Amino acid sequence: MSQALTDLQGVGPRLQERLSELGIHAVEDLLFHLPLRYEDRTHLHAIGAVRPGTRVLIEGEVEHSAIVRGRRSMLVVVLSDGTGRVNLRFFHFRAHQKTQLARGATLRCFGEVRAGYQGLEMVHPSYTRIVPGRETPVADRLTPIYPSAEGLGQNTWIRLTDQALSALSAGKLELEELLPEGMTRNLRLPSLAEAITYIHRPPPDADVTALTERNHPAQHRLAMEELLAHNVSMQRLHRRQRARSAPALPAETESEQKFLSRLPFDLTRAQLRVRDEITSDLSQSHPMQRLVHGDVGSGKTVVAALAALRAMGNGYQVAIMAPTEILAEQHLRVFSEWLLPMGIEPIWLSSKVTGKARTAALEALATDAPIAIGTHALMQEGVAFRRLGLVIVDEQHRFGVHQRMALLEKGSDGSGQPHQLIMTATPIPRTLAMTAYAGLEVSVIDELPAGRKPVTTVAVGNERRGEVIRRVAAACGEERQAYWVCTLIEESDAIQAQAAEAVAQDLRERLDELNIGLVHGRMKAAEKQAVMQDFERGNIHLLVATTVIEVGVDVPNASLMIIENAERLGLAQLHQLRGRVGRGAVQSSCVLLYTAPLGDLARQRLDIMRQTSDGFRIAEKDLELRGPGEVLGTRQTGMLQFRVADLARDAHLLQRIPAVADSLLKHHPEQVDKLIKRWVGDASRFAGV
Ligand code: ADP
Ligand code: MG
Repeated sequence: MSQALTDLQGVGPRLQERLSELGIHAVEDLLFHLPLRYEDRTHLHAIGAVRPGTRVLIEGEVEHSAIVRGRRSMLVVVLSDGTGRVNLRFFHFRAHQKTQLARGATLRCFGEVRAGYQGLEMVHPSYTRIVPGRETPVADRLTPIYPSAEGLGQNTWIRLTDQALSALSAGKLELEELLPEGMTRNLRLPSLAEAITYIHRPPPDADVTALTERNHPAQHRLAMEELLAHNVSMQRLHRRQRARSAPALPAETESEQKFLSRLPFDLTRAQLRVRDEITSDLSQSHPMQRLVHGDVGSGKTVVAALAALRAMGNGYQVAIMAPTEILAEQHLRVFSEWLLPMGIEPIWLSSKVTGKARTAALEALATDAPIAIGTHALMQEGVAFRRLGLVIVDEQHRFGVHQRMALLEKGSDGSGQPHQLIMTATPIPRTLAMTAYAGLEVSVIDELPAGRKPVTTVAVGNERRGEVIRRVAAACGEERQAYWVCTLIEESDAIQAQAAEAVAQDLRERLDELNIGLVHGRMKAAEKQAVMQDFERGNIHLLVATTVIEVGVDVPNASLMIIENAERLGLAQLHQLRGRVGRGAVQSSCVLLYTAPLGDLARQRLDIMRQTSDGFRIAEKDLELRGPGEVLGTRQTGMLQFRVADLARDAHLLQRIPAVADSLLKHHPEQVDKLIKRWVGDASRFAGV
């Protein structure tokens, strides 16, 4: 039973359209538009007893009111309730507010009380004028604050959800229970309608802290459902993929053997095991859906190359997609080195390949080029493969599911699909594996090549920068090479580039005996490539770089890394960066250069970096300190947006999910559809799959 939004009071075509932009199409959807937080306006606080820093409801009489002229005029109103005084400050105000808030008026205000220079103050409180003698009751429920969009005020959300909740309680709207009964009973979770009602309108005695932290049973109830929905949606997606047909590639090719015999090293046991897992998938007539997960430097590329050779040796095309230009270029270099001697020339495709070069590349892919390497550009419109048999996606968490699927579609001829190999270095905590990657087979390269020595890591305050620079000079004097990474968070490429240029300039002045190179995201691909090549060949001693070198860059002789402003970076990023050293035979070190004073979180991050190089431990800690969105990099991709669930906080709920998900998929496919529709939203995002 679904009610149209326009059945509600106050919803005309304009509002309906706004809501629809937010994914709200029916009254039921309003019930799933959940508050972000709550305010307690259920009782009045005595001004004299208010603690600064709290958000409270107060009431009092205006003692004094004046416009204070300064650089900006401000309306200041002194409010008193007999127990104390508070200054209300309005930086934006209209003329009529001066009269409305004149001496003698009784006001009820809600806002944060702060300790100001002249006693307690509230800046821009929300307020109502109380008519003396007329009963004005306080709220009887906690006030929900909804996530909103421009032009939609909190009052609108209250008005809309009020109507939706009344429809629910009057039985005019039914919320179908989609969780198996056994599950809610075992976990002692409330029913869906109870949970929803509680979360929208918590009673005055509700535990606001638990609610704010989304740690209330009512929220667990919804989180459970949401996590389950994401799990089944990913599983179903991957199952459907697997049900399609793909070219079976059972026999080892000559080129694989040749490649192995030419490698200057033996594969580790872990690499061999994962290679076998992959080739066993490839020999099936259904598309492989495998995630290969191995810490930075574990040697995923060789394994990917073997899979690529298997496909090419059987006459199928291969596409390798990486999230950044610099990483894709790195693959291009490595694969060219391996493949050119076998007479195979990779086709390069990035968004910077344009004009004739692009036309030529596209033509080659549409005819007989065996392998393409590139960025997002590979999955864009206009790119067509003749016979795509294998798609390799590196560092996949940077791509959204739909991007990965779009590339697969390039090889789809209606019935068949290419095999898919996903490689990621970001260690995935189990909790994430159970949602974002549900339904993929997982291989782990859990062993580093022999002879790798853990990187010695120190944290050094910026006041000892001179010392660090001398250390760089000493290392480079001994034929070692070093990275100097300049980091600025959430600034544009241009600003990052400027900062890196300034650092390079300064270091060149101080270290004029060294050859210092510079790479940043604003350089042309060819320039970047030239610098990287010089560094790889040892012509550059010290490479100053922005975080563009974060992923994939591989120069074994580089054994010292300085990371500037390390305190501003997250753990995943620090781990990735540090993974650029420690790849050769010499003992490597990493200097985390920070600017004091360190905040608590920053100190914890630097400590963990000093203590361990174990990617899993670092990832778990990262999840704990920052939350999963950051770990997966979903801020860029929007891939995993939970409304209620939080993978770090709700880890305990996840245990139950796989079993329930399996049983739902097997026995209640219709519930699965509804769950996905309710929580993951419009399933057509993944349509065509
Ligand atoms: P990642 O897993 O981070 O992508 P790479 O595939 O770039 O790691 O490998 C890192 C480095 O280790 C490369 O220089 C690669 O040639 C080398 N390497 C890979 N496998 C082995 C091995 N079994 N023994 C020695 N070196 C290896
Ligand atoms: Mg790699």
